[in-house]
Amino acid sequence: MSKIKDLNLWERGEKKIYWAKIHMPVLNSLDEEYSVKKPFLNKTIGMCIHLEAKTACLALAFKRGGARVVCCGSNPLSTQDDVVASLVKEGIEVFAWRGETEDEYKENLREVLRFEPDLLIDDGFDLTTTLLKEFPHLKEKVLGVGEETTTGVMRARALWEEKGLPFPVIAVNNARVKFLFDNRYGTGESVLSSFMRNTNLLVASKTFVVSGFGWVGRGLAHKLQGMKAKVIITEVDPIKVLEAVMEGFEVMPMEDAVKLGDVFITATGNCKVIREEHFLSMKDGAILGNAGHFNVEIDMKALEKIARDKREVRENITEYLLPNGRKIYVIAEGRLLNLAGGDGHPVEIMDLSFALQYLVMLWLNSEGKNLSKSVLDVPKEIERKVAEIKLRSMGVKWDLLTEEQEKYLKSWEV
Ligand code: NAD
Ligand code: SAH
Repeated sequence: MSKIKDLNLWERGEKKIYWAKIHMPVLNSLDEEYSVKKPFLNKTIGMCIHLEAKTACLALAFKRGGARVVCCGSNPLSTQDDVVASLVKEGIEVFAWRGETEDEYKENLREVLRFEPDLLIDDGFDLTTTLLKEFPHLKEKVLGVGEETTTGVMRARALWEEKGLPFPVIAVNNARVKFLFDNRYGTGESVLSSFMRNTNLLVASKTFVVSGFGWVGRGLAHKLQGMKAKVIITEVDPIKVLEAVMEGFEVMPMEDAVKLGDVFITATGNCKVIREEHFLSMKDGAILGNAGHFNVEIDMKALEKIARDKREVRENITEYLLPNGRKIYVIAEGRLLNLAGGDGHPVEIMDLSFALQYLVMLWLNSEGKNLSKSVLDVPKEIERKVAEIKLRSMGVKWDLLTEEQEKYLKSWEV
């Protein structure tokens, strides 16, 4: 049934999954409990997410919890073919391979929906919008969606406000135990490691231009600062600009930053943040990467149009010859450099994000039909449970409120 690149790659994938699993204590503790109770029996979970080792651990935990699991990638370049081969060997349906075309990517979303899932995990909201447009008969069946990322939640909100939703969409991204760690520390480390792995160039002394001072941009800017890079921020929100200035970063419009940057990383969730006029003002040798959303933040179509020539000069790095004779370099075709050109966030970070997704699926499975058909936050108890399991696994102890303190915090009398 599955469509993947090569089933023979399974052994290398299995090793990657083993390494991830032994570093995911939070997900493992849920897995231990629910693989016995099997809460997902007779349910199909459709997952559209980056298919690498940590995601594989989540998919396998769902399967052990009784679910039939069907997966596709949430990015045409982030699927690891060896990992999905191992998943297929374990009885999970997968429709994904690294380097699928846009059309194949879209068709793979449909393949997942043909299994008529009861629960969805989405990462960017493509699976859900495809369901609503092309599989309307599933609207009644679906119990809900767990949306993994900032832009996906924004798209879900925009749709809800304009047309309403037929089922609840849980803003997993907006839980503190997600964005404070995944978007901030996870992206900070994984983008840095991917830049270093893909270019083999020095970070210290280079001028990095980071676009967007949200959770992702802020996390990245701090890691770069720690590695002794010079960091320039571009932003559109004056409050974030002020915050960046107070943190000691230089802030300026992209128009000015393009002349100074050695490396440009976008993290805005917005389109055409770096566009034609910017490419033409960059220094010879400038390197561009995107850590935000799909392949829209760097205007790749404009770059393809104006370039005199292009060639791959190193795995994951394309050289573009501009009409002014300068050369600039794009990592991973302008798609997320940490996932298309690396393994994504560190294992411990995805342990938190995916434990959260697991608990959200449990919640939707039991309560989905009773929840409001809108974009909902993750309940505080679920967030707290993930944080508590993680802290226990680390051997960290912390204070609890006394009864008197609890009362004091709720009283208005002096
Ligand atoms: P956020 O909303 O906290 O931050 C985005 C920031 O970009 C905001 O401050 C916004 O004002 C700014 N911005 C918007 N348009 C801009 C423009 N034209 N120029 C400069 N700044 C602009 O969001 P976030 O959580 O930081 O996520 C950012 C993006 O990264 C989203 O698309 C999200 O889905 C994605 N993301 C990627 C990863 C990854 O692994 N690479 C991880 C988490 C999130
Ligand atoms: N699908 C869109 C949006 C992705 S945003 C795109 O490809 O452009 C990135 C999301 O990927 C984050 O919210 C993060 O939780 C998730 N992510 C990061 N590292 C990951 C990993 N190693 N495995 C699976 N998901 C990961």
